[in-house]
Amino acid sequence: MARHSCTPSAVYSVWGDIMMARAARPLKAGDEVTFSFMDIWFPLEVRQEKFTTAGGGDGFWCRCPRCEAEASWTSAAAVASADLELRFEKQRSRVEGILRSLDLKLEERRQNMQKQYDAIRDNEEQRREYEAGLLGLADRFDNLKGMPKDEDIEQLQKYFPEDNEPELVEVRQDLADDLVDAILTFEEQVEKIGMPEEERHWLIANHFAQYSQLLTILRLRKDVEAQRKVLGGFLDAVANTCPGGFEHQRLSVLLWEVSAQCEDPTLMREDLVRDLIPKELDRVREAIKIRYGQDLDDTEVSAAMARIASTSIIDENWMWDIT
Ligand SMILES: [Zn+2]
Repeated sequence: MARHSCTPSAVYSVWGDIMMARAARPLKAGDEVTFSFMDIWFPLEVRQEKFTTAGGGDGFWCRCPRCEAEASWTSAAAVASADLELRFEKQRSRVEGILRSLDLKLEERRQNMQKQYDAIRDNEEQRREYEAGLLGLADRFDNLKGMPKDEDIEQLQKYFPEDNEPELVEVRQDLADDLVDAILTFEEQVEKIGMPEEERHWLIANHFAQYSQLLTILRLRKDVEAQRKVLGGFLDAVANTCPGGFEHQRLSVLLWEVSAQCEDPTLMREDLVRDLIPKELDRVREAIKIRYGQDLDDTEVSAAMARIASTSIIDENWMWDIT
């Protein structure tokens, strides 16, 4: 049994009927092992409201180090947060309109994919071919101790989900510029407060909602330079607040993708599997290994990365794909 923390010391993953827990940070004898059971990407008052009312009365009052520290923050932290929220609030109707259009486009795509899967399922021959292909995937990884070959990647791509690059919804330059400026101004303000490093990460992590909205907007604009800039500080905050969590994994993969695209704008998706941007790739490996173990081999790391890049929730199924 372990308690919840808004900055947990351990992560767990589930493999069939086995739950595996690992330390997410260096632990000393006597340190408490904690997990994150709840959505922790909000400011204190929102977290408290969510936790205490959770499960229809089974809620709890969180006394983790992050909640305790945040209760005593000075007004400078509150001002930085309020300024950022106000800047986003002013653009709210525009951002919401864009996100709604995007949802509709994605839902349309999901329905089309479902139709394709249904067609395969209903056709005996196609279904057998699909299943045979999935079972053969492990053989395709034979040479993955080194660099994957083109035909390996091609073969893989047939069975992993389509890339999740959103359909283009029009986003005006001035909106993107204003929100990037709001985030960078916020980060400068936070820097000036002079909080302990850990608490600075927590303050930034509280604004996950604003960062996610901006990252979606920049992605729709296909502005990889700006995504790289915004992701830099944010990934540090997320990685320190909840190391090995899905958000840590997902954002490190995203940073690596956009960094690779910054270096080589003509990059095709299949090239992302390659070792182009070693520093960012190391951050991805670190995030994956915290969660799944330091002993993962390159094949397993590649499979985990492919999964993380193509899903919007934690998803351990990459393991079944390669075994
Ligand atoms: Zn807490």
